[in-house]
Amino acid sequence: MQRTYQYRLYPNQEQQDALDVIMRQSCLLYNEALEHRQHVYKHTGQSVSFPAQWERFREDRKARGEDFGLLNATSVQQLLRRLDKTFAAFFRRLKQGDKPGFPRFKPAQRFRSVEYRYGDGVRFKGDKLYLQHVGDIGIRLHRSVPGGCLKHVVLSRKAGNRWFVSFQGDDGEVTPEPKSGIAIGVDMGLMSLLAFSDGTLIDNPRWLRRALRRLRHAQRTLARKTRFSSRWWQCKRRVEALYWKIANQRRDFFHRITHRMTNEFALIAVENISPKFMLANKHLSLSASDASWAMFRSMLDYKAERAGCIVIEVDAQHTSQACSGCGRIKKKRLSQRWHSCTCGCQLDRDVNAAVNVLKRARCGPTVANAA
Ligand SMILES: [Zn+2]
Repeated sequence: MQRTYQYRLYPNQEQQDALDVIMRQSCLLYNEALEHRQHVYKHTGQSVSFPAQWERFREDRKARGEDFGLLNATSVQQLLRRLDKTFAAFFRRLKQGDKPGFPRFKPAQRFRSVEYRYGDGVRFKGDKLYLQHVGDIGIRLHRSVPGGCLKHVVLSRKAGNRWFVSFQGDDGEVTPEPKSGIAIGVDMGLMSLLAFSDGTLIDNPRWLRRALRRLRHAQRTLARKTRFSSRWWQCKRRVEALYWKIANQRRDFFHRITHRMTNEFALIAVENISPKFMLANKHLSLSASDASWAMFRSMLDYKAERAGCIVIEVDAQHTSQACSGCGRIKKKRLSQRWHSCTCGCQLDRDVNAAVNVLKRARCGPTVANAA
């Protein structure tokens, strides 16, 4: 299974300066490669191939020491491949008749990661991480690195000046015992974060709501400062740090929930809500992005696969409108929190939806595949 493990790096000042130079040089190379492609496209309408670009920048890397001297050959290749993919996507969308934006230049502030191959300019050296042209950097191994992950290495800067390294790789097939036990339906609610068909409601924790309030306040303050002034930068770093913290808290929270769910249940039924639909609907968009469904789903999926638990997607249509007792459609407005039906069914709105989701998973065609 493909996995990524991320660790915090603790470079000293000198190493930080060297890392900054690597980022700046990578950014420069990316932008120059982009310019090269733009130039060729303008004059011939053709795309430049990856090998042609590599050929060109391999020479440049040698000849222009002060511009590209700290760049690793593999990193440059990865960088050019990244650009190649961006262009492939651009041309694909052009063909489809879309109007895609031409790939844009990246400002240095937004250039945040460089890729390596393990053993080529980056490797473990005792309890430090050796990086070519930088030295032995302190790393906090909060968990051990699985052997299969030591292939693809990404060096990145986040939230102001925090450095991270992540290892990506395949750690082999896992074939867990299939589980027997409880099946549960989950509704991704609007008011509560998650509702289970057994009546459990899980809300965004209070500390997260408090942190979001703090973030909003910090953003307001930032908006009132003169752009690029020293106070503005001060404030901007504060906002970034808050964002980072909240993202971490939310990820941690989702890890705990999905871990508990995949341990406890044998079958989990969820709605097939596409983020596109949610974001297109103005009324839903805030809570949708806020609750980060995509993150929840991807965590649920990979944890379920490891735990031998089955996740079934069902059609989301009318799950909140239909009565889970008798199946009649009972129109409710978004503000209506309680489901009550003439058949005697009395439930929280989201729990009612969760029961419907579970029902669909049990009688839908997907259940055959699952079994
Ligand atoms: Zn009913």
